[in-house]
Amino acid sequence: MNAKEYEESFMNELIAKNPGEKEFHQAVQEVVESVAPYVVESPQLMKMKVLERIVEPERVIMFRVPWVNDAGEVMINKGYRIQMNSAIGPYKGGVRFHSSVNLSILKFLAFEQTFKNSLTTLPMGGGKGGSNFDPKGKSDMEIMRFCQSFITELFRHIGADTDVPAGDIGVGGREVAYMFGQYKRLSNEFTGTFTGKGIAFGGSLMRPEATGYGACYFGESMLATLGDSYKGKKVCISGSGNVAQFAAKKCLELGAEVLTMSDSNGYIFDPDGINSEKLQYIFQLKNVLRGRIREYVTKYPAAKYVAGERPWGEVCDIAMPCATQNELNGEQAATLLANGCKCVVEGANMPTTPEAIAAFQKAKILYSPGKASNAGGVATSGLEMSQNSMRIGWSSEEVDARLHGIMSNIHAMCVKYGTESDGYINYVKGANIAGFMKVADAMLAQGIV
Ligand code: NDP
Repeated sequence: MNAKEYEESFMNELIAKNPGEKEFHQAVQEVVESVAPYVVESPQLMKMKVLERIVEPERVIMFRVPWVNDAGEVMINKGYRIQMNSAIGPYKGGVRFHSSVNLSILKFLAFEQTFKNSLTTLPMGGGKGGSNFDPKGKSDMEIMRFCQSFITELFRHIGADTDVPAGDIGVGGREVAYMFGQYKRLSNEFTGTFTGKGIAFGGSLMRPEATGYGACYFGESMLATLGDSYKGKKVCISGSGNVAQFAAKKCLELGAEVLTMSDSNGYIFDPDGINSEKLQYIFQLKNVLRGRIREYVTKYPAAKYVAGERPWGEVCDIAMPCATQNELNGEQAATLLANGCKCVVEGANMPTTPEAIAAFQKAKILYSPGKASNAGGVATSGLEMSQNSMRIGWSSEEVDARLHGIMSNIHAMCVKYGTESDGYINYVKGANIAGFMKVADAMLAQGIV
């Protein structure tokens, strides 16, 4: 069987076994396309059905999350944890609270996480969890009661050497702290079972910054392959949450101009650039006031707010999608290319659709998948786990230096496995092959489990 035939029959079987899970199919398709040529050449991988085992979660936990809102009403949400793969370490991956959360989205995220964690070189398996709970507009007490109920069930399935959750969309420092508090209470142990904790109780310096900063470090390495850098570049960023905020901050430090940010209702474009003072306002608006990005134009009237749109119609050199999956489609990719965009660095997970990826690769511009360029977040979570195990805390400089080193190393692996005969670096292929090889080797060694 050649690679194309293997890929087709593999995907047909996957879709039949996991009907309706379109995001999961999309994530698997991208990996299988990259690794199929490698798998069909390996009798061991074929015989031991390593790829067939990798796409099947080791365990899926689904549960009821009942809680009481401020009006005294009983509310019921769905809770999930996907324990995808533990071949190279305990399950590790974030928790997402968003109304769109379902099994397909969490399986795609847990699957991607397995390869991303492998790329960091740290001993972490893949996992992801969450709920269809929507934190928007909820009071602090409602958030706390929800987090406590969520953990009341989940606590029995996680642990510092078993499964270590962290934040993701809708889950930041506040939510991690509430979950950690309830976990500690139920388990009667103070352990590193969560990452993204507050600094006062075992969190790592630089963890909030890590995903956005790491994406920019990765982007710098990509641009360096062309003798270029962020300096003087126009950057369009989507999202205004954790990843977007710190990506914007690092872009400014690297001498770039940030033109846009967004949320799920629309985007803002500031023709004068979002400078540090304006970015500080966004930090305050989103993290303290928990407001909407459109409020930016009231404060800075020279900017415009475009409701219901993504920022990809604006002219830029670098695009950094940092909001959510499938937020940059083929048509928008064509517009970015026509406007001279040279580099796309994913801060979010799977923000670019397959059509858009194909367009960027056909145009041979720099394009990196999130599993490589946003791995700085989980890498720093891995560093938080190490600090917790050793019961010490590293300085910001030390964590940042390690983060920088890890991102450079991931870039080097992408170059090693992704460089094509004409010299073009296919970061998708590089990341998928490098991430897969380590997990596959560990699975082969551990037998059929
Ligand atoms: P946050 O919740 O802090 O921010 C998410 C941002 O994306 C918000 O601005 C939000 O807007 C916007 N957004 C969410 N859903 C949608 C949607 N359906 N359409 C348009 N905009 C949307 O999350 P993070 O910044 O932590 O995560 C952003 C992305 O980065 C996700 O893909 C996540 O998986 C990925 N990631 C995060 C890591 C981390 O360390 N936090 C690590 C690696 C990847 P609104 O306020 O309207 O919801």
